[in-house]
Amino acid sequence: MAKVIITGGGVSGLSAGIYARLSGHEAVIYEAHGVPGGNLTGWDRGGYHIDNCVHWLTGTNEKTDSYRMWETLGALGAGVRRQPALYSVSDGDRRISLHRDVEKLRSEMKSISPRDGKEIDRLIGAIRAAQAFCGLDDAPKTTELRLLPYLFMSARDLSDRFSDPLLKTFISSFLSPGFGSIALIFVYANFCAGNADLPVGGSLATARRMAERFTSLGGTLHTGVRVLKICRDGHTARSVLTEHGEDGGDYFVIAADPSAAETLCGAPLPAALRRMGSNKKLMKFSSVHCAFACSAPLPFCGDEVVVDGDGCFTLREYSHEPGFAPEGRNVVQSIVFCGESDADEFIARAGSDAYKRAKQMIASRMYGRIVRKYPQLSGSLDLLDVWTPATYARFTGGTSGCYMSYAFGSGYIPHRIGCRIPGLDNVLLATQWQMPPGGLPTAALSGRIAAEQIDSMYRARRTRRIAAN
Ligand SMILES: Cc1cc2nc3c(=O)[nH]c(=O)nc-3n(C[C@H](O)[C@H](O)[C@H](O)COP(=O)(O)OP(=O)(O)OC[C@H]3O[C@@H](n4cnc5c(N)ncnc54)[C@H](O)[C@@H]3O)c2cc1C
Repeated sequence: MAKVIITGGGVSGLSAGIYARLSGHEAVIYEAHGVPGGNLTGWDRGGYHIDNCVHWLTGTNEKTDSYRMWETLGALGAGVRRQPALYSVSDGDRRISLHRDVEKLRSEMKSISPRDGKEIDRLIGAIRAAQAFCGLDDAPKTTELRLLPYLFMSARDLSDRFSDPLLKTFISSFLSPGFGSIALIFVYANFCAGNADLPVGGSLATARRMAERFTSLGGTLHTGVRVLKICRDGHTARSVLTEHGEDGGDYFVIAADPSAAETLCGAPLPAALRRMGSNKKLMKFSSVHCAFACSAPLPFCGDEVVVDGDGCFTLREYSHEPGFAPEGRNVVQSIVFCGESDADEFIARAGSDAYKRAKQMIASRMYGRIVRKYPQLSGSLDLLDVWTPATYARFTGGTSGCYMSYAFGSGYIPHRIGCRIPGLDNVLLATQWQMPPGGLPTAALSGRIAAEQIDSMYRARRTRRIAAN
């Protein structure tokens, strides 16, 4: 049995720890924050719960390997909530939703814009073709040729092929216009295949279930303890240094922002990961959020994308989780995406009076935008919280407040980068950054791959030792 020490108790770290325990190794996780889960989290404010992660979890269809992985990790212990639609967009009286039933989507799109019929059929064909790659045991037989043209289109390019303004907005506003349209098609494909739903209880409850799974398997979880350094002799790491002392181990996993390879053990990032940083097709992003307590009935359900004179934002309501608000009330959260330079500006100003004023301004502007779109909510929204990229940077150490890895533009085909760190024999990476665009399944799989690699390194070393004797 080897001792595996993991820096970071987010999804990547918990997954590495659970799979290490399942292979029979001792596993210890150090998590800097007071609660495990990293970005898979939520918090309470004034009698309401703010859920700050899962909009959709890929891997909720029982016929996929990802589902079996989430089961192994204990994430889905309380079941899955199947939403009728992933998101909606409206303009005046017209409304379009991403329905679970792909034929309903086709007919709704055609009733909105019959003249876009050909393009709609092409898109639905691509969604069906993408389902062959969603990991379903009984995936439809299809040809990837239908997907090829979309590889070279951004969401904006795709929306330009439609003539109706509502359909254009529906397509360009959900992820962001610069995102590769293939990413959008895969989100649609997974959702329509019942493979992108919500874990019951929301994000924090899911993180807690994973942490419980880890400790129930005999893993040791230290929360509120930051790893300051990974100490090494040449190419071999020997221990981690934390605020509470030193802990020796055989293998080490960095399940935090990959910059930790440099800051904690003075090692360079894998070259492929460094190259990603200079790839023009890959973009870092973060977001600014407000949460309001709402006392009026809401005119939308689930996620609603709103486009107004100031740009685009997403509103989310939580009626599917009655425990998040007192009876008869709801939580409404807004998300506005921002690029790397805006995110860095928030981080540079964090803690200052200017930052506090900026947060107040964000809240009052967002209130104004919401009631302009839905005047019936005027006077019914009370601010619960505002958070920014600086919040993410402070709580998880994510560079530029990033909480996914890179968004990718057209012409980029995502591929996974290995977990070995050059020049280090026994330190491995387990992060969502190893495969754009990141997200929960990528994080969980990275943890699993790192644990499997450690197990095979351990077995190979043991076999060599036995052979030498
Ligand atoms: C608003 C929002 C919405 C999202 N929506 C979705 C969604 O719908 N679907 C989806 O799949 N994904 C979504 N994500 C992304 C998802 O949350 C992340 O991809 C995932 O949680 C990343 O997990 P991770 O473990 O790789 O990294 P992190 O969550 O960043 O965890 C890293 C952990 O390491 C800890 N750490 C860092 N340095 C140290 C140190 N020196 N010592 C000890 N601990 C350390 C941090 O505190 C942190 O807990 C969303 C994220 C956000 C914020």
